[in-house]
Amino acid sequence: RAKADGGGRYELFDADLRASVLDRLAVERDLRRAVERGELALHLQPLIDLERQRPVGFEALVRWDRPGHGLVSPASFIGVAEETGLIVPVGDWVLREACRQIAALNATAEEPILLSVNLSARQLTEDLILAVRSALTAEGLAPELLTLEITESFLIEEHGAMAVLDAVRELGVSLALDDFGTGYSSLSALQRHAVDTLKLDRTMVSSVATSATAAAVARAAVEMAAALGLDVVAEGIEDVEQLRIVRELGCQVAQGYLFARPMPAADAAAYLRGESWSGAFAAALPSR
Ligand code: C2E
Ligand code: MG
Ligand code: MG
Ligand code: MG
Repeated sequence: RAKADGGGRYELFDADLRASVLDRLAVERDLRRAVERGELALHLQPLIDLERQRPVGFEALVRWDRPGHGLVSPASFIGVAEETGLIVPVGDWVLREACRQIAALNATAEEPILLSVNLSARQLTEDLILAVRSALTAEGLAPELLTLEITESFLIEEHGAMAVLDAVRELGVSLALDDFGTGYSSLSALQRHAVDTLKLDRTMVSSVATSATAAAVARAAVEMAAALGLDVVAEGIEDVEQLRIVRELGCQVAQGYLFARPMPAADAAAYLRGESWSGAFAAALPSR
């Protein structure tokens, strides 16, 4: 009997495994055509300067309008894109389209609008240097307005990858270390690597208001960043208490649902003209 039950479980497992392998293959097949079919889209999430209390830029976040599946989030296809190498054409499209959208915003905005673009480690080849340079020139975006977001996994990469990042920085482009606080080697990673900005991960930010330990860790990270001359962005700010704390800790920039969810580029100009962010500041910093 026990054996029969066990067998049943294995069959179930096999069916699940088979379904997930087929899913993955379907994602790969469909993603292969997504760029040329124009199925990718970008959403832009505002970056808010905490000192000036206004938006200073946007992070570009890719979406896939996959036929029969609606708007798919990157969590469900970036992994496949990385494993198959499709991240290279996808990443090139993201870079070019993001530069185009932010250059258009800059044409009408009163102040310079910054752009942040996420990179995968697989994109770190010589070709990246050309892709970045041509996206900037073709779309007319100043390199100083562009930041490329990398993660700690980049920092364990080999020598050639580091040389590519150096070359990109020489173009005048900045680097940000994304998802800081989720890895295991953050401190040594920072020492080994020339980045301009640290992005405190959402998981760290979400616990600063409720855990003294998390707040202490975040404080140490911000102090270390200051000692190294880096700016700090706090990601995933969802409520005014978190905003109050990260501001107190000395973060320069905040990003999160409290201010705005990632939005279609078509809504970004109206967002900049509005004043929707001021409510968050008014609530977090009651007049003294
Ligand atoms: P990330 O770079 O850390 O981006 C921030 C993620 O947190 C975004 O998820 C954003 O929508 C979400 N977020 C922002 N504020 C809040 C908040 O207040 N609360 C909550 N719960 N979430 C918030 P998204 O757009 O689903 O992207 C997930 C990840 O996918 C990104 O994390 C990034 O690692 C990757 N990704 C997105 N676009 C690209 C891309 O063009 N290229 C590459 N290589 N990776 C990308
Ligand atoms: Mg990012
Ligand atoms: Mg991030
Ligand atoms: Mg994150």
